[in-house]
Amino acid sequence: MPTPKQAAQERLKSAGPGLIGLSHRIHAKPELGFEEEHASAWLCEMLDAAGFKVENGVAGLPTAFIARAGTGPLHIGICAEYDCLPAIGHACGHNLIASMSAGAGIAAAKIADDLGVTIVVLGTPAEEVGNASGKILMLERGAFDGLHAAMMVHPAPFDAAVMKIIAASMFDVCYHGKEAHASAFPELGINAADALTVAQTSLGLLRQHIRQTDRIHGIVTKGGDAPNIVPAHTAARYIIRSDNLNELEDLRGKVRRCFEAGALATGASLEINGGDKAYAQMNHDLALAAMYQRNAEALGRKFPDLGPLRDRVAASTDMGNVSLAMPAIHPAISIDSLPAVNHQPEFTAACITPAADRAIFDGALSMAWTIVDLATDPSTRARLLARSPDTLRS
Ligand SMILES: [Zn+2]
Ligand SMILES: [Zn+2]
Repeated sequence: MPTPKQAAQERLKSAGPGLIGLSHRIHAKPELGFEEEHASAWLCEMLDAAGFKVENGVAGLPTAFIARAGTGPLHIGICAEYDCLPAIGHACGHNLIASMSAGAGIAAAKIADDLGVTIVVLGTPAEEVGNASGKILMLERGAFDGLHAAMMVHPAPFDAAVMKIIAASMFDVCYHGKEAHASAFPELGINAADALTVAQTSLGLLRQHIRQTDRIHGIVTKGGDAPNIVPAHTAARYIIRSDNLNELEDLRGKVRRCFEAGALATGASLEINGGDKAYAQMNHDLALAAMYQRNAEALGRKFPDLGPLRDRVAASTDMGNVSLAMPAIHPAISIDSLPAVNHQPEFTAACITPAADRAIFDGALSMAWTIVDLATDPSTRARLLARSPDTLRS
């Protein structure tokens, strides 16, 4: 009789070529957040063929899905992401996340009933959008209800069981001024581009007076139409980040005043849209993360001591919001991309290499084995099951 871990490994091996094919297909057809029609459909087909009961278009989101297998009392969620970035495709490796999470689900489903577990693969769209993203809306609309824990693994330049994940909020800024001939009648114009310049100068000065862990970064999305027309409409998109949601709200007020300064100085009017559903910091379940690390090490993965980089390399994800609702992990898995790092076109290229394909297998199996451990370790199982019905509501 194979052990549960051996049975999961065998099942994953037979699914392997299909999972690598899926990753490469998603990579070749990058789809932006909430537009991931093909990726979502391909995942649903694969999970359906593997015996999952699949519901698509959940939570009012056409590209979200929930796939269930097994009938055990302990419900474990595995989150699949599959959106790309504008202009640079799968530079965050969400094609790998999709395949890893499907693979983990398929491998764990094989042994779910022996373990007393129900496996729930959640298709969570639009992780990169920065506001009101897939997991946030799915949490609000009950798609995570009834889960006792959730997990996913993210491609990175190195392996880490616990990544620094901070709160973040993305929003759009617009200034409305008035056009005029820039040479003949400039005194009749209200310069919306100047408003943005004043705001950016104010933000630059603000950087002296924020926490070391705060971040402010943005792009101008509209700067004007022609140099001989006083710009009447300008726009920018910004992201602010802080260690946690409380500090983020403090930073938000300060940043808002910098944008108000632009309006005040020029007479343009200011409009801010979005930023209403922020990404939370991640509250890692350290016991589950340690199980993941032991399983990944058993597959030959190395977890380097990152030293000060551990806190400095901070990013944000809506998995943070999930982690405030239930025990959750979000380890990083190396695809041997260095010197390329996430959100570079070179990282896009690294997401279909043999090392990336290998990460699909290792990440999927480490998650499946972590499910074996958390289901069979009596104290962990009891701790997860003991969550009261109202804490099961997200
Ligand atoms: Zn990303
Ligand atoms: Zn990502």
